[in-house]
Amino acid sequence: MARYTGPVCRLCRREGQKLFLKGDRCYGDKCSVARRPYPPGIHGQGRHKISEYGQQLREKQKCKRVYGVLERQFARYFDMAERKPGVTGENLLQILESRLDNVVYRLGFASSRAEARQLVRHRHFTVNGRIVSLPSYRVRPGDVVAVKESSRSLNKFVEAAEEMSQRIIPEWLDLNVEAMEGRVLSLPTRDQIDTDVQEQVVVELYSR
Ligand code: SF4
Repeated sequence: MARYTGPVCRLCRREGQKLFLKGDRCYGDKCSVARRPYPPGIHGQGRHKISEYGQQLREKQKCKRVYGVLERQFARYFDMAERKPGVTGENLLQILESRLDNVVYRLGFASSRAEARQLVRHRHFTVNGRIVSLPSYRVRPGDVVAVKESSRSLNKFVEAAEEMSQRIIPEWLDLNVEAMEGRVLSLPTRDQIDTDVQEQVVVELYSR
């Protein structure tokens, strides 16, 4: 399964904002966006005029990078979003939010989506009682995402459970810390998604 393996802080610097790709480090003073607030590369500190197309491209790249999705899969999600009734941009974000790795991250079992993705790949999670190791698996309302019973005593999850009270769980998910599981109450509406992306601009790019 393809994934980006290069330096992730570079991606944030390219987009000019924190994308929170590295978990705890993103909240400390070691964050590269805070230390070097200009794009990476030798011309990073030069002056740049960005075209309308450039803005649309950057917004799409940002959206992809936040959710850790590569180009082809993102284009596939856009196709699905277009075919669904409703507003395409919102549909797109809803599809991205319903990925299993994102749900694991939103529930607080991982400090970043990349970590959530790895935990899912390592078969630590079940959906409705069955192990699912596909980070792109899409949850549906009523699904129960849980830490596999034999993994619950792992330090990683014990520590995550202790910190969960400090995390804000989105309204569309219901977390049961003792049982180490979360229920999907509904798919999120736009106002329940805090991702800083102008989805309409992404739609404009694909409509060119
Ligand atoms: Fe981005 Fe986090 Fe790296 Fe800061 S520390 S640049 S927010 S990935």
